[in-house]
Amino acid sequence: DRAPLAPLIGAATQVPLADGSHTRYVNLDIAASAPALESVAGRVAEVLPWYSSVHRGAGYLSRVSTSLYEDSRQRIGAFFGATRADETIIVRNTTDATNLLAASVPGNVLVLDVEHHANLLPWRRTNHTVRTIPAPTTIAETLETLRTELARSPYALLAITGASNVTGEALPLAQVADIAHEGGARLFVDAAQLAPHRRFSISELGIDYIAISGHKLYAPYGAGALIGKSDWLDAAPAFLAGGGAVGHVGIDDVVWQTGPARHEGGSPNVIGAVALAAACDALDGIGAAALDQHDRELRGRLLRGLAQIPGVRTARIWADSDEAIGVATFTVDGVEPGLLAMQLSAEFGIGVRDGKFCAHPLLRRLGFSGGAVRASIGVGSSSADVDTLLTALRQLVANGPGFEYETLDGGWVL
Ligand code: PMP
Repeated sequence: DRAPLAPLIGAATQVPLADGSHTRYVNLDIAASAPALESVAGRVAEVLPWYSSVHRGAGYLSRVSTSLYEDSRQRIGAFFGATRADETIIVRNTTDATNLLAASVPGNVLVLDVEHHANLLPWRRTNHTVRTIPAPTTIAETLETLRTELARSPYALLAITGASNVTGEALPLAQVADIAHEGGARLFVDAAQLAPHRRFSISELGIDYIAISGHKLYAPYGAGALIGKSDWLDAAPAFLAGGGAVGHVGIDDVVWQTGPARHEGGSPNVIGAVALAAACDALDGIGAAALDQHDRELRGRLLRGLAQIPGVRTARIWADSDEAIGVATFTVDGVEPGLLAMQLSAEFGIGVRDGKFCAHPLLRRLGFSGGAVRASIGVGSSSADVDTLLTALRQLVANGPGFEYETLDGGWVL
């Protein structure tokens, strides 16, 4: 049995059930947004009294904040294997990061249809062609398809997910990087889901760019990063024009900064960056092996359990994938996913997500056009959390579809 690897804030939060009682909130919606680690919250509390303007003041607090911000940048980049500190641009989240790279990419983009909308839609706004190809049903064929397409037509960038936010499945990134480079393209990895579950180094794997979100990595909302080669970014228009992004401004002329400052116009989110760096420290403290084992064991327990419940169908992209993170999407025959998710919440205090997970093309292709339910785990999850979900599902399946609920002032009405 597995206990949480590290404490998250709010782990003991009690939530109301439909019968008026209260129970511990079983958070199985970690893939959407993870609660902050206690150590991250502690670090934020520690630096709040020191927080002031960054890169804008000579006062002591401004100098402290500037160095906190730049140290955090360096720390976040190093955690992901960036070789230079100026390769980490602090943004709000993965969506921001992808949009920033999309504004910088100098040629066509190739994507698979398994992506989150954040790794589909930004590319469509570039002046270049974005080609979205359906991923074949095995990893081997998918890699071959990418190789063929890259050889057939010139692409500047191959953009893929590090781990699917729907099924948790992951492509072999080092191999994908080789395929991209052999085809003359760079590789962008949407690591929003991969980063909280696996340690990896972009320089070791040969990845050119990654995007991450702090709120999925046990830091509070507000900061994410785009990490990768600076040449395209330095040649692109400033993402956010304004103070901080410029070296000189005349009435009719502007000299834009290069490096991260070019795209970080406006007062930067120092607390967000500090929190994200603290989350990197915490995951370093846990260690790659422990993180990996925890995630695999809980995922295994969840998927084995789901497979034993009659009428449960689990989503899967690749028949031959053996690498996947702790995210599972499923339906129960005859039960509307929204109602199922609501029942899990109202009767058992379990938080899952239902819907199409910002991955409409993938859901449609996998035969889940009506949506599905997603359960996801993280470092704060335990075997008991997974078992609570499995027990609840068994009970709901045995009793048939249940009641309709409406929320009222935070409580439940039948
Ligand atoms: N990519 C993936 C794989 C995701 O799961 C998500 C969040 N659901 C995103 C991108 C977008 O992240 P954010 O909302 O933090 O920009």
